[in-house]
Amino acid sequence: MTQFSIKELQEKDQGIHAFLEFFDEKKIDQQIEESKKRIEQGNPLSAIDGKTVAIKENFVWTNGKTNAASKILKDFEAPYTATAVQKIIDAGGIIVGKTNMDEFAFGSSTENSAYGPTKNPHDLDRVPGGSSGGSAAAVASGMVELAIGTDTGGSIRQPAAFCGVVGFKPTYGAVSRYGVIAYGSSLDTIGTFGKTVKEARELFEVMAGKDVKDATSIDIENSKFETLNSKQAPHSKLKTQNLKIGLPKEFFAEGLDPRIKNAIDGVVEKIKSQGAEVVEISLPSLPYALACYYIIAFVEASSNLARYDGVRYGFSIENSKSKVTSRLERRDPSASLGMTKEGVGMTLLDIYQKSRAMGFGEEVKRRIMLGTYVSSAGYADKYYHQAQIVRQEIKKEFDDAFSKVDCIFAPVTPTLPFKFGENTDDPVKMYLEDVYTVPINVAGIPAISIPIETAQEGDKKLPIGMQILGKQRDDYNIFNIAQNIEDLISKS
Ligand code: GLN
Repeated sequence: MTQFSIKELQEKDQGIHAFLEFFDEKKIDQQIEESKKRIEQGNPLSAIDGKTVAIKENFVWTNGKTNAASKILKDFEAPYTATAVQKIIDAGGIIVGKTNMDEFAFGSSTENSAYGPTKNPHDLDRVPGGSSGGSAAAVASGMVELAIGTDTGGSIRQPAAFCGVVGFKPTYGAVSRYGVIAYGSSLDTIGTFGKTVKEARELFEVMAGKDVKDATSIDIENSKFETLNSKQAPHSKLKTQNLKIGLPKEFFAEGLDPRIKNAIDGVVEKIKSQGAEVVEISLPSLPYALACYYIIAFVEASSNLARYDGVRYGFSIENSKSKVTSRLERRDPSASLGMTKEGVGMTLLDIYQKSRAMGFGEEVKRRIMLGTYVSSAGYADKYYHQAQIVRQEIKKEFDDAFSKVDCIFAPVTPTLPFKFGENTDDPVKMYLEDVYTVPINVAGIPAISIPIETAQEGDKKLPIGMQILGKQRDDYNIFNIAQNIEDLISKS
């Protein structure tokens, strides 16, 4: 790339709305120049030096605003930069802007963004998935080479599948969460998007590693040159004939679009013809994973979102007094909550309640209320503590499975990309979209979503993705297996 044009990018983005903010063009040009010099001199900082990168809107940085696609963080400027973002900058990645998402990463379609939805580049009438829909669409449409997102219950893998790109969710803790706006702290992970497995991996390598600013972060051993079968000599090529793959029968039951099932069957046949062994396995608690996830995620979200009080960050009702005053003046002061006698002043409680009522969207409010309810005294035993027990069981079942197989194949989504508005009236229908992705976050294991086929829908070709799951810390082996499958598909 010689010269970068934000104007071109903006024009391209008009029909898609993948971006919420673009970075300063002059600075981008300067970074590209510096990177070019390094590459010419044979001294690139990393494999991503000079590559364009988009950042999901829930990573804080000091180069612009951060709003997590919420009105409550409108115009918020963070005083520091997320570790993952800093590592990309240090590696020579060219950050061009911040991408759209569901508000606070709550959703599966980007329809929950306070700033309008992102469209699927393959069919503009359809959602790109979510919550990292902007990042997936930005890569799929070629507006950037790479993107990062967060995955708490599928927010990287599901939009990757809907947009036909590669999306990687690492082991919990493999990338520091420092500077990422928290959703569900025990589930949140940071991962990557690329057109190819290699690109998604290179970006992950840049971001991965223990960080003193996140006590849950860990180092993942880079086994990239090792074979899957440890008995073989290192540095030899990955051998598929030693691979044992599990297909959990619970994942291929009712509710899965037959076109997705057929596409995965096709990959299974191909890998079998290379000598891999494919066996059916059972993870009996999988059907409970969705309920378990939504209880834990909502509880953690309601706690994490308590900090948006209209005082410390972004939007405050206090700063939009004209609207408030006129509303308050119409009210009966005696019926109001903690107002001063004049009926125009506000107590602290007023500021909290009204800022939150106006600043948060519907889905966010729903989750705060449900999360508070299921963790409140008297209900926590029935819901939250039960969910924790189920979570342990799911983890154990995955551990058992990985003592028998090297990896697991699974669908990413039960359906093809759906149309705007199709699932918005029924939150439970929307939550069901996450049935194959959330168990992975509940167990804290790594998984990748790779495009394997397309399905003809009218005059459009819609992408189909497949997940490859591995045991904790097996991130690089998952990349190896995914690379193998990508090669097999491109050869056929
Ligand atoms: N769709 C899921 C949810 O709404 C997952 C979102 C995510 O991974 N951030 O919770």
